[in-house]
Amino acid sequence: MNRAIAAVAIEGSPDFEFREVRLDELRPDEICVRITATGVCRTDAEARHLTPLPAVFGHEGVGIVERTGKAVTRVKPGDRVALTYPYCGACPNCGAAREYHCDSNLPLSFSGRRGDGSATLFLDDNPVSGAFFQQSSFATRAIATERNATRITDKDVPDWVLAGMTCGIMTGAGAVANVFDLQPGQSLAVFGAGAVGLSALLAARVLHCETVVVIDPHQNRRELAAAWGAHALNAGASGTDIRSLAAAGFDAVLDTTGQESVWRMVPGILRTGGQFGAVTTPEPADSWALPIAPFFERFATLRMIIQGASRAAEMLPRMIAWRAEGRFPVDQLISRFPFAEINSAFAESAAGRAIKPVLEMPRQDQGTGE
Ligand SMILES: [Zn+2]
Ligand SMILES: [Zn+2]
Repeated sequence: MNRAIAAVAIEGSPDFEFREVRLDELRPDEICVRITATGVCRTDAEARHLTPLPAVFGHEGVGIVERTGKAVTRVKPGDRVALTYPYCGACPNCGAAREYHCDSNLPLSFSGRRGDGSATLFLDDNPVSGAFFQQSSFATRAIATERNATRITDKDVPDWVLAGMTCGIMTGAGAVANVFDLQPGQSLAVFGAGAVGLSALLAARVLHCETVVVIDPHQNRRELAAAWGAHALNAGASGTDIRSLAAAGFDAVLDTTGQESVWRMVPGILRTGGQFGAVTTPEPADSWALPIAPFFERFATLRMIIQGASRAAEMLPRMIAWRAEGRFPVDQLISRFPFAEINSAFAESAAGRAIKPVLEMPRQDQGTGE
């Protein structure tokens, strides 16, 4: 039970290679999860530049708990869990129930190691980068911490839908519900109709926002946004065109694209005192300069958003309930791929054809192993 088949990202090749890896012994606060489904997210592609290779990525895992460390109390073997972002549990933000702003978020997500620097995965007995978001779920088994595992008892939501919800969809919905806290009748403009942007649109509908505008270059995505009640505009739409759809300006603007032209346009479409939130930044992020005066003159609030400021144990059940009520049809965002087709899943995502790819583990691989 300490071996897994993993999709390993290696130096010099854009494709993942399937290899058998060995999992380390569990620490007291850790669990071993037999993965059944895991989402694919843009962060998994960007991680090649952030995490030392070879590495096992994957940060949207769902599966069944097989084993637990000695100190684990909240889940037990046999429980179905959704794995989300990692946090230390000990810093001031974690102590104040803001674990999405954990001081150790970035190293726990991208260092390829546990918080104590040790490796969770071994390839041919050599340590490799694992513990990606403290899960590395592009594998048939994963080591997670008890903290980033949420037990899911609702049987109506399939594993592949749940996996899709754990990061990008939670980010978009959380941006609207938690960060902007939009109220009935308010307005939202969203740049980029990927999983994050379209989930923001869906959450805005759930919360009875009046006007939602979605701007995206892909026709298939604009059609989906329009079917869900948004004004859908092509990328390159002018600030004047966008602004004309909300007389007083937009209460909130969400950027999921990191396009410089979008950030420059925002003050012109925001209402006075409105909120601008971004889930990524223009490149190069460490030297790009944003003229700030237009934001000041709009008295805007700027929010850099991670995970939609969502506490997974609250946000996942909330989204599951919206879906059960028919108000959050995220199934339509998801394209399902067998785990063996992980390279196609990334290619379809990069081409804009798959909005939210989810990988499903083969049945025959489940429950086997040493
Ligand atoms: Zn923390
Ligand atoms: Zn993600």
